[in-house]
Amino acid sequence: MKRQIVIAGNWKMHKTNSEAMQLANQVRIKTMDITKTQIVICPPFTALAPVYEVIGDSRIHLGAQNMFWEKEGAFTGEISAGMIKSTGADYVIIGHSERRQYFGESDETVNKKVKAALENGLKPIVCVGETLEEREANITLKVVSRQIRGAFADLSAEQMKKVIVAYEPVWAIGTGKTATPEQAQQVHQEIRQLLTEMFGSEIGEKMVIQYGGSVKPANAESLLSQPDIDGALVGGACLKADSFSEIIHIAE
Ligand code: PGA
Repeated sequence: MKRQIVIAGNWKMHKTNSEAMQLANQVRIKTMDITKTQIVICPPFTALAPVYEVIGDSRIHLGAQNMFWEKEGAFTGEISAGMIKSTGADYVIIGHSERRQYFGESDETVNKKVKAALENGLKPIVCVGETLEEREANITLKVVSRQIRGAFADLSAEQMKKVIVAYEPVWAIGTGKTATPEQAQQVHQEIRQLLTEMFGSEIGEKMVIQYGGSVKPANAESLLSQPDIDGALVGGACLKADSFSEIIHIAE
């Protein structure tokens, strides 16, 4: 079965508003010929609304990099799903390993955020992945399964239709070390199997599972040609319009 290919760019903490608008505009121009691949760009919160103006009615979708699960209230410094939605964004990255590592994100908070995102019409891109120590201890599957079960606790198959999973081995993020296509494919297949057990075969078959971790034009083709890899969550290489659009063209 053919699944939608989704290439998302995680800009992390990069780009002022004017820089963000410039990059988004370059990506827009360089991807005008794309007709099949879903493109998502995730600038910092501050640039969401200005970037939305730039991408206009192009096929580029907008996403945030994080959110808080409460609707509103005395939560200084936090941003709700409804606020993100109001910028024009329709995606949100949840549970990125940098948030798990530096900002106390846990499987429980990821679950709360996924539910709040869905309630507000945002499609969550939920990140999972093992550290180097966990891979070396041969507990990759155990870790990723725990993260998946935690993230999607109490969700229905209907809700899962709006969810994307991003498998990002922590040791491959920003390190230049990519999982080999075979290593990635194996985990993707195991994730798909687990999702099938949890939500049934339709969800298992249709779920978009992206790979992330040092994806660049040079390795995109070998990764994306794997049967269970349905796109990429790109960090470093999405900060340049040339390399990001090259990855999108490879996916297309
Ligand atoms: P990277 O980041 O492509 O720079 O490794 C990927 C990510 O963190 O989503």
